[in-house]
Formats: sequence, C-alpha cells, structure tokens
Amino acid sequence: MTSDRALEQQILATIDKWVDKELKPIAREYDQADAYPIDLVEQMKELGLFGATINEEYGGLGLSATTYAKVVSRICEVWMAPSGIFNSHLIMASCVQRAGTEEQKARFLPRFATGELRGGIGLTEPDAGSDLQAIRTVAKRDGDNYIINGTKTWISNGINGNCLAVLTKTDPTAEPRHRGMSLFLCEKGDGFSVGKKLKKLGYRAIDSAELIFDNFSVPADNLIGGSEGQGFQQVAGGLELGRINIAARGAGMAKGATDMALTYAMERKTFGKAIAEHQAIQLKLAEMSTRAAASALLVEQAANKYDRAERCDLEAGQAKFFASESAVQNSLDAMRIFGGYSYSPEYEIERFYRDAPLLCIGEGTNEIQRMIIAKQMVARAS
Ligand SMILES: Cc1cc2nc3c(=O)[nH]c(=O)nc-3n(C[C@H](O)[C@H](O)[C@H](O)COP(=O)(O)OP(=O)(O)OC[C@H]3O[C@@H](n4cnc5c(N)ncnc54)[C@H](O)[C@@H]3O)c2cc1C
Repeated sequence: MTSDRALEQQILATIDKWVDKELKPIAREYDQADAYPIDLVEQMKELGLFGATINEEYGGLGLSATTYAKVVSRICEVWMAPSGIFNSHLIMASCVQRAGTEEQKARFLPRFATGELRGGIGLTEPDAGSDLQAIRTVAKRDGDNYIINGTKTWISNGINGNCLAVLTKTDPTAEPRHRGMSLFLCEKGDGFSVGKKLKKLGYRAIDSAELIFDNFSVPADNLIGGSEGQGFQQVAGGLELGRINIAARGAGMAKGATDMALTYAMERKTFGKAIAEHQAIQLKLAEMSTRAAASALLVEQAANKYDRAERCDLEAGQAKFFASESAVQNSLDAMRIFGGYSYSPEYEIERFYRDAPLLCIGEGTNEIQRMIIAKQMVARAS
C-alpha cells in the first residue's frame, strides 16, 4: 500500500515535471500578452487539479490541505497566475462540499472535479470588498427560481469560467446584515454577462472581470445549503482554506524569487568576483532564504491543523500575512540583486515583482488579516 507521504512525493514529482515542461517555457509570453493559457487548462484537467481537494467519492483527488498547499507552492515558484485558475474554482467547490445539500453535492461536485464546470467565487462589488456585508446584489424569490440583479467586480475566471458561487442579499433589510445574505451556484446563461475584462499590473493571463447580473434567473435548487441567510457564514467558512491557499502561493513565490536571485548572483561578476561573494548581496540572500523557509513552515503548520479539523484561523492568518509579505519583499530584493536587468521583461523576476502584491490583497487584505490574528490572540488568551 502506498503511504500518504509516498503518494505526496509522487504527486509533487508529477507537478514538478509539468511545471518544468509546460509552464516555465510559456510563462513570459502569456503573461506579457495577457493571454489565457487554454492548453494549460486542458492539462490541468488531465492532472486532476480541478478536483484536487474534492472528495474521491465525487471524482476528485481528495488531497489534504497539506499536500494541496505544496502543489500550489511548486507552481508558484515559477508562475503564480495559473494557480488561480483552479484555486478560486476549488473555493467554490469547497463551499458546496462543506455547506451544500446532498443533491447539490451529487449534481455539481463531479462536474467541478473534471473541470467541465469551472469558475470561482463572486463576492466583491464596486462598493464592497473588505466590508462584504455591504454588497448590493439582490436575489429575489420568484416561484421555483430566484432573480438576481447586481454587479460584481474583480472576479477571477469570470470570463473563461462557466459557473460561479455568487454572494447576494436575499433580505437587504436584515439586521445584522449577514442574516440576509445567500450564496447561489450560477451557471452562465441569459442575464449573466461579462461587463468588461479588467487590465492589471500583474496576475495576467488569468482573467479578472466585471460581471453583470440583469434579471438573471437561477433555480432555487442552486441556493447553497437550501435555506436563505447562510451565505456569509458559508463564504467565511471557506476562508481558512482560502488563506492557506494564498499563503502557499506566497511561500512558493518567496522561494522562486530566492532561487532566481541565487543563480544570478553566482553567475554575475563585478570587481573580479561573483556578486554572491559580496557581503551586501549575501545579507540579502540569507534574509530571502530565511523568509522563504519560514513561510513554508507557517503554511505547513496551518495546513496540518486544518487537516486535523482543528480551529486554525490564527495560524492560517499568520501564514497568509507572513508568506504574502515575504513574496513581496523577496521579489523586491531579487530585483536589487538583478540590478538593471531586473527592469527588463527578458528576465522573469519583473513578473514576480508585479504578481506578488496581489497576495497582500486577496482573501482578506493584510490589514484585515492582522486584525483577525490579534482578535484570535485575545480570544485564546481570555
Ligand atoms: C487580481 C484580483 C483578483 C481578485 N479576485 C477576486 C475574486 O475572484 N472574487 C472576489 O470576490 N473578489 C476578488 N478580488 C477582490 C478582492 O478580494 C478585494 O480587492 C479585496 O477584498 C479588498 O477589497 P477592496 O479592493 O474593495 O478594498 P477596500 O475594502 O476598499 O479596502 C481599501 C483599503 O482599506 C483597508 N481597510 C478596509 N477596511 C479596513 C478596516 N476595517 N481596518 C483597517 N483597514 C481597512 C484595506 O486593507 C485596504 O488597504 C480580486 C482582486 C484582485 C485585485
């Protein structure tokens, strides 16, 4: 029988091979053209990535958070954007897996696992990001359906995906506000359209879109969990895994930037020796590798707790906060080590520098993250 550890090694070896053969050679071209990597998506389907954390009984790989986080990190060591194609999708899937009815699990999870249906989560609106309870998208009951009206923005996979978990207000007057919020699985159709594709500093190649719901009719059977007023908790319940996910991206990027800088510093010579032999560069490399290693350990700590079904909001928050800031700092330090060449799109490091800041924003900004960490510290000490 294959042990969990041996299985994890096999999976990571497969991912490493794929990253080397398929991702690395096209990253620069697709990032600069902001072109959607259709071939990669087909390969992701074959690798089972769209079902990575979906239970095996529904056709997924059923990976633990610990193994899944390592898969994400390995991809992000080279190119962060492709991980978003299945990360947001799996957050949608985890909402169904955790909070869906048995009928919803049977109807959606197998199609999510193959990638036949894929997408992400539609929470953010033009006037509501951190304060999600301020959303204005409304879902109104109409016989066996709900009619959705509103606008979502910054939605990953909004153009190339065909299904989204959409957060709405079913009772806009409810107090507290979260009691009036409900989450729907929306397959694209009449009344659900793309407003525009958003241009971005980084995280290119994956689509981010404004989405418009104009009298979009969704079956009442697609209300996750089957009863109104649970949407905010359903979304919040997925945040721990979402944060481990972002932390894993950060840990991968922090390591990738370090590896690139080390290789360059050993090759580039000034004043008769490799710049890696200058103490100022050594100090940077040492700090970078320490941040990368600490990020990976924080991710592992949070993921292990998640897999043991222990409360891990503090640990997931710490991992997300530290690993994302490390990705930003290591990308910047690597830029310094690359000198003038860091400014050229001929080298990969400028992409890391543009991609990394997103990690400080997504899944709860790092300002909010620190508030969550501190609140948990107080709660655990009380
Ligand atoms: C590339 C990209 C992809 C994204 N993908 C998705 C997606 O797939 N689905 C989705 O729903 N959303 C997505 N988002 C949106 C993202 O989740 C939001 O941008 C994020 O939640 C922050 O919201 P905001 O931009 O409205 O900032 P705001 O909430 O307006 O915050 C602005 C600033 O104020 C700070 N702030 C806010 N409230 C407080 C407070 N109480 N105390 C201290 N500081 C505070 C914030 O930390 C931030 O620094 C994406 C964003 C980007 C850029």
